[in-house]
Amino acid sequence: MNPEVSFEFFPPKTVEGVLKLRETRKKLASLNPKFFSVTFGAGGSTRDRTMDAVLEIQAEGFEAAPHISGISSSKEEILSLLTNYQSHGIRRLVVLRGDLPSGEVSSGDFAYASQLVAFIREKTGDWFQIEVAAYPETHPEARSAANDLKHFKTKVDAGANAAITQYFYNADAFFQFVAQCQKMGIEIPIVPGVMPIYNYTQLARFSNVCGAEIPRWLRLRLEDYGDDVASLRALGLDVVTDLCEKLLAGGAPGLHFYTLNQSGIISNIAERLGLKK
Ligand code: FAD
Repeated sequence: MNPEVSFEFFPPKTVEGVLKLRETRKKLASLNPKFFSVTFGAGGSTRDRTMDAVLEIQAEGFEAAPHISGISSSKEEILSLLTNYQSHGIRRLVVLRGDLPSGEVSSGDFAYASQLVAFIREKTGDWFQIEVAAYPETHPEARSAANDLKHFKTKVDAGANAAITQYFYNADAFFQFVAQCQKMGIEIPIVPGVMPIYNYTQLARFSNVCGAEIPRWLRLRLEDYGDDVASLRALGLDVVTDLCEKLLAGGAPGLHFYTLNQSGIISNIAERLGLKK
């Protein structure tokens, strides 16, 4: 049986971006995804574009899951967004704290994702399937791994149905994390987030910000390739396919791909994994 897959997009800014995303979606749709999710920019900066992309996905007949972040939103703003999503029949949300642009101080009502999850449950009951974020390599701001796990449990107890992880390239980090969660009585599915390797500079920048480790051997090899994109992608394809195989063989309940609105590498990974169309 095919594992469940889902794909994450960012809301495009331009008409060309919208057209390109449509093409990407068409290609990825053949992999029969459980849902397509659309990110939400810091401080609600993409609110309308996230909504537009979500409604377009839904109109194409797929399940669309908007991300929603609380860090600089008021309760009123979140409630109006929730009501809007409910009125369009959206049933799944990816609920996050979000990050502030550097130098900004939060003026919102939600300091942590757990508070936003609790608020959504209070206002909308069981209407939404709530996905939250998890960090097998520990969130970069956490005081300790144990503290981060404790906060993850609070978020789950507030009403999350499932979690999607930050990306990582070491399958053991995921398995250890899941084992620790089980020991703490966390029973929701934890789906690994998978970041294909598109471009080294971009990956290094993302990883610095989000605390995802690029193993030294991999980093050095990717650095060596410099502008040789074909070699870099060939290595990336081997590494990420191998990671996905290990995750699925070890019992991961599915795979959530960070697409960066591209389909090519993911289609190659899916083909190697033997995912049926
Ligand atoms: P939280 O769960 O609130 O945790 C954040 C930090 O606070 C952690 O260090 C945690 O240990 C700590 N913490 C939690 N509760 C407490 C407490 N009570 N007391 C003290 N410390 C506490 N960002 C966006 O802006 N838009 C997106 O669309 C988006 N999508 C994402 C999708 C996925 C699958 C993932 C993994 C991340 C995504 N992010 C997105 C990034 C995310 O917003 C950041 O990683 C952010 O820094 C943390 O969000 P969170 O929901 O995990 O926060």
